[in-house]
Amino acid sequence: MKERLSTTVQQLKPSGIRRFFDLAASMDNVISLGVGEPDFVTSWAVREASILSLERGYTSYTANAGLLELRFEIMKYMKRNFNVSYDYKDDIIVTVGGSQALDITMRALINPEDEIIVVEPNFVSYSPLISLAGGVPVAIETTAETEFKLQPRQIEEVITSNTKALLLCSPNNPTGSSLSKEELQAIADIVIKHDLLVITDEIYAELTYDEEFTSIASLEGMKERTIIISGFSKGFAMTGWRLGYICAPTEIAKAMLKIHQYTMMCAPTMAQYGAIEALQNGQHDVEEMRKSYRRRRNYMVKSLNQIGLECHSPGGAFYVFPSIKKTGLSSEEFAEQLLLEERVAVVPGNVFGKGGEGHIRCSYASSMESLEESIKRISRFVENKL
Ligand code: PLP
Repeated sequence: MKERLSTTVQQLKPSGIRRFFDLAASMDNVISLGVGEPDFVTSWAVREASILSLERGYTSYTANAGLLELRFEIMKYMKRNFNVSYDYKDDIIVTVGGSQALDITMRALINPEDEIIVVEPNFVSYSPLISLAGGVPVAIETTAETEFKLQPRQIEEVITSNTKALLLCSPNNPTGSSLSKEELQAIADIVIKHDLLVITDEIYAELTYDEEFTSIASLEGMKERTIIISGFSKGFAMTGWRLGYICAPTEIAKAMLKIHQYTMMCAPTMAQYGAIEALQNGQHDVEEMRKSYRRRRNYMVKSLNQIGLECHSPGGAFYVFPSIKKTGLSSEEFAEQLLLEERVAVVPGNVFGKGGEGHIRCSYASSMESLEESIKRISRFVENKL
């Protein structure tokens, strides 16, 4: 049977994160720093708006690109918060999470053998989605020495005649690294020089702690070559709603819409009604969550460094990515032994690609109490290994 499957799919490795979740799920008394999702429930106002839409009987499909009212709110939100202007009728598509937004972006852009530059360590879906669309992911490795920030010269080192786009993610999963406006400008200069497109995954845009978020699309000469991937999962604590969006130059958005209409029709209607409320009135809730993550980030960075697991202070998202090199264990060994011996679930850094080995990803979207207990356990574990 195997030979009947697509060779591309046969070559895809299952996500390395799942194995640990499955193991952790079969054990008691586990503290999980593994999952990449908010520990908040979606705000009541958003849930209520969605319930109200059901009570009113709004249960049919929406326009393929999403409710016009929601796209209008997305347009205002992008302008207000990130200073980029889009036409809500032609440039914005509401998708089934950032995940589907990424998928249709790749499929709309890639011809066979086109190369997309990815910056590793990165979100586990990027390279598989590029391969599934027939493209070739070309990885740039970032390291702890530069706080896992892409150095602009690294882009020029991997550009070939097949390079089509650079895929960026800031704030980043798994490292939490967040690029400043100046750092993005230096990247934009190279992108413009080589006439590349940029796909920017801004799913963590609301969650920055030291500097205001900058979208690379807002820099001069960039909007026309940039596709923004974003959504409600992280900043608005709406992972289960499966709602994201794309903002792109009109021609590209039109191409994406063709794929979207044939494969998805539209994003879930009741979720779209909730999202309108989130954008109209949710800013206060987002701000409260952001402050809470910031406190927890500070605690985790301080505590991990105190127990000898070196860790830079990430500017955003809800992950820390400490080095575990001094224990002499590989990332997989560390994560597996920590789970079995101390019942703390983390994700080994190697699953996120180059530069991830020697690190673990800890999500701090967990209660302070759990974080404190996890630090006690990790501390004991590390002492035993030294
Ligand atoms: N992009 C990044 C960097 C992520 O970390 C995630 C989820 O973990 C996604 C995209 C997809 O999010 P969703 O499909 O829930 O919008």
